[in-house]
Amino acid sequence: MKVRFLSDSETSCTAVIEGISAPFANALRRVIMTEIPVYAGKDIIIYENSGPLFDEVIAHRIGLVPLTTPKDSSEDSKSVIISVDVAGPSMVTSADFVSEDPDVVPTSDGFPIVKLGKGQRLKCNIEGVVGYGKDHTRWQPGLASYKNYPSIVIDTVQCNLCGSCIKACPRALIQKDGDVLTVVDAGSCMFCRACEEACAQSNEKSLISVTPLKDVFIFMVESYGAMPAKDLLSTALMVIENKARALDQNLSGA
Ligand code: SF4
Ligand code: SF4
Repeated sequence: MKVRFLSDSETSCTAVIEGISAPFANALRRVIMTEIPVYAGKDIIIYENSGPLFDEVIAHRIGLVPLTTPKDSSEDSKSVIISVDVAGPSMVTSADFVSEDPDVVPTSDGFPIVKLGKGQRLKCNIEGVVGYGKDHTRWQPGLASYKNYPSIVIDTVQCNLCGSCIKACPRALIQKDGDVLTVVDAGSCMFCRACEEACAQSNEKSLISVTPLKDVFIFMVESYGAMPAKDLLSTALMVIENKARALDQNLSGA
């Protein structure tokens, strides 16, 4: 397997992964969204809520605030208490969450919870617990998706450089370089096949073909902030490796 990153930031990354099958790419996608242990607010104890929203709505909003998660966290990691105590008039946001663990805090200060009027108050404790996206969306750490990497082949012997495919490509991926056609940034191809159709209309048959490579994928990960996007990818690979090892041990002992 070969991995080449096209982009990499805290919140998202895109990589070209070679040498994997579509089922493996799909397993990686599913594990990222459902089987990576991250913190989220589970039990909310409300001591006072004299604001305009019901306790249930407040608890729902608080539960969906993503929390940062140390990379080595597991379901055995201890729970973390986060307290909130705000008196109105004020907008209560995730900036008001006071965590006992500086490594487990809201991923952003900007999540709104409730707007309190004069004389109103919200006082509660949130129990941050490690869980999995397969149990509830609150523990889903991000999104992952993939597509096949395209193979764009031009019949350079018969191509007459008419330019129809260049005009047809909505992503401007095909360019004329002297007396040859070149493809730039093939990974952005969306398999619309407009180039093939344009060429077939200008000639007797299409001299350009776009096909998905069966074992090369462009993999995209977006993190909600619990951990960097690249860590989601590497943690998911570890989860799959551990599952395969456990299966192998079970088969050996069977
Ligand atoms: S399939 Fe569509 S996006 Fe891809 S190269 Fe052809 S025209 Fe461009
Ligand atoms: S449309 Fe076909 S013949 Fe014309 S430049 Fe493109 S590949 Fe060549």
